[in-house]
Amino acid sequence: MKLHFDAARCVRAASKFSNCTKCVDAAPQSIQITEQLPEFAKATGVEASACVGACPTEAFALSGFSTTEFFFTFLESKVRLISPRVNVPCISVLSVEHLISLALASDEPVMLDLAAYEEGTLLFELIEDRIEEANFVLSSFSDKALLTNLDDVQDIPHSEHIRKQDEKDVASRREFLTRTTSVKEVLKQKKAFDEAVNAEELQHFEIDDAIVAKIRNKQLPDKRKILFTTLKRAEVPDTFEVLAEEDVSFVSQKYVDDHCTNCQICYRICPTGALSSDGKFSMIHFDAMLCVKCRLCHDACEPDAIHLQKGFEVKEFFEPTQRTLASFDVKRCDECGNYFTYSGGEQICPRCAVEEEEAVFLHENAKKMFGEKE
Ligand code: SF4
Ligand code: SF4
Ligand code: SF4
Repeated sequence: MKLHFDAARCVRAASKFSNCTKCVDAAPQSIQITEQLPEFAKATGVEASACVGACPTEAFALSGFSTTEFFFTFLESKVRLISPRVNVPCISVLSVEHLISLALASDEPVMLDLAAYEEGTLLFELIEDRIEEANFVLSSFSDKALLTNLDDVQDIPHSEHIRKQDEKDVASRREFLTRTTSVKEVLKQKKAFDEAVNAEELQHFEIDDAIVAKIRNKQLPDKRKILFTTLKRAEVPDTFEVLAEEDVSFVSQKYVDDHCTNCQICYRICPTGALSSDGKFSMIHFDAMLCVKCRLCHDACEPDAIHLQKGFEVKEFFEPTQRTLASFDVKRCDECGNYFTYSGGEQICPRCAVEEEEAVFLHENAKKMFGEKE
């Protein structure tokens, strides 16, 4: 199985202050962080899929399997089972948002084949936790839920698919063993063998200019766009619940306290544009439904002025709002012309003030040195 990593989407590439380890926590056997960015072996086991579903910004993907495509093909198909024995490499490739969206968009209950996993393993527990969270969030505004106990389902509609898949696997294994060994085939197999020998080698990623240029583009992950679309079609509840912040892993609401210095960092580096400002940098705006809870803004805020709101209001799912978390007096710097946060009396911005101080210091030193020589 091949993992694909887009460094420009990883929040660790956006700031050295990021402490994100969601991919490592989900697939500790496969992913590691030695320097700034995640690293992984060239060939990974199926448990590495868990990092795909865990990454808030979709920096990880599996080659040959798109979760977005899966969402649409699954809904078009008659099968209502998600199983590594039928249609996914591993259920863990799907995030909580995908699971909520699939349950919401499907007319029939969606079943997840947890029986395909060994109970007590990290992978089993991780998938179980995601299903539990998806069902918890769904229960706050819908009567839809994901099912996991296949024994409860009378007529399992997937048995035919599983049988066909098994037959296909056996046939492809047989085909591999009986394949004619032409020179071309031998070379191909040698290449595959060499790749397998190097499979343990770690892939290392560097932050180059191309990545820096890509980071500047704010990007909302596809899974959030899918969630938006399914929520738009869902029935709006009569009352809106408030969910405990710690029970929702993929979205958050925030507030900013008065330690904020309007350093501009959080809204400049937020990968999705959930945090933003106006043209004069005089406000901090926040759109909860654009937030993927990557925590980058918290990690990068030096005075620790940005905080998670204790509860997440389900109303945001149905009536997304932009809130102003802070506003500041700003004025143009007499020196450089840029806007700066004005606390009263200053004519120039802090950066120009520092430069001016340095210039005065150098000038004074030069004068002393000249004076001493004369
Ligand atoms: S943003 Fe994604 S890839 Fe980067 S550290 Fe976090 S989980 Fe891993
Ligand atoms: S909340 Fe923190 S990071 Fe954002 S502008 Fe204020 S001080 Fe800077
Ligand atoms: S606002 Fe949300 S998406 Fe933006 S940096 Fe903060 S946690 Fe990440």
